[in-house]
Amino acid sequence: MVMGTSPRVPLVVGNWKMHKTSSEGAAFVRDLACRLGQVADREVMVAPPFTGLAEAVRAADGTCIGVAAQDVFWEKEGAFTGEISPLMLSSLGVKACIIGHSERRKYFGETDEWVAKKVRAALDWNLMPIACVGEDEGQRDAGLTREVVVGQLEAALALVKAWEARQVVVAYEPVWAIGTGRTATPEAAQEVIGVIRERVSDLLGEAAALGVRVLYGGSVTPQNIDGLMAQPDIDGVLVGGASLDIDAFARIVRFVCASET
Ligand code: PEP
Repeated sequence: MVMGTSPRVPLVVGNWKMHKTSSEGAAFVRDLACRLGQVADREVMVAPPFTGLAEAVRAADGTCIGVAAQDVFWEKEGAFTGEISPLMLSSLGVKACIIGHSERRKYFGETDEWVAKKVRAALDWNLMPIACVGEDEGQRDAGLTREVVVGQLEAALALVKAWEARQVVVAYEPVWAIGTGRTATPEAAQEVIGVIRERVSDLLGEAAALGVRVLYGGSVTPQNIDGLMAQPDIDGVLVGGASLDIDAFARIVRFVCASET
């Protein structure tokens, strides 16, 4: 077990996937900012589709909300029709990007090698990579969860240096829990995330393992958020469906820490 005091600020990220027009996204950000006010002890981000990023960044200006992209390409510019570069995102004011989400792996052929290049490119352009890892149902049933998660993690961190770990976020998202209403129990999520932190320690050292933030994702709701956030290694959540609803997302952001109960 990796022991030590945690300097990690909890992070809540809403992944809107292919939902919300630019104006709907900006209105959501304004409404959320009003409800939250200035939040000092946790970090909040929303990840609109590419078309909504510019308006969301404008709406988030001066608020506690950051804006993330849902993907990024690794090249700065060039003949890559349909792609968006890390320079384009960072020059827009985007702070982070989700990389290797299971839907991109499944529907768009994203590979571990691409994930590694995208994580590297994000860091090079001052974007915080949120690298997703997680086993599918068949792999879980076959007892392969650790093997799959560790393999994807090693690939995602292949081009990361130890001193950069604090800027990296890993999201453990069991594929069978995404959009299904079936959440991993807090204890099961903690166990896998503990394994992730151990492996980061092996790969990049203990300081890196203490600095890297590891999120849980998969059917997070207002009902299960407090239990998840009570786990010592869960540093936040990546929220899909529930991040589209302002009441649900605001409640998730206002999760109650174990020490407050
Ligand atoms: C996700 O898409 O990253 C996700 C966790 O979705 P949901 O919360 O809907 O399961």
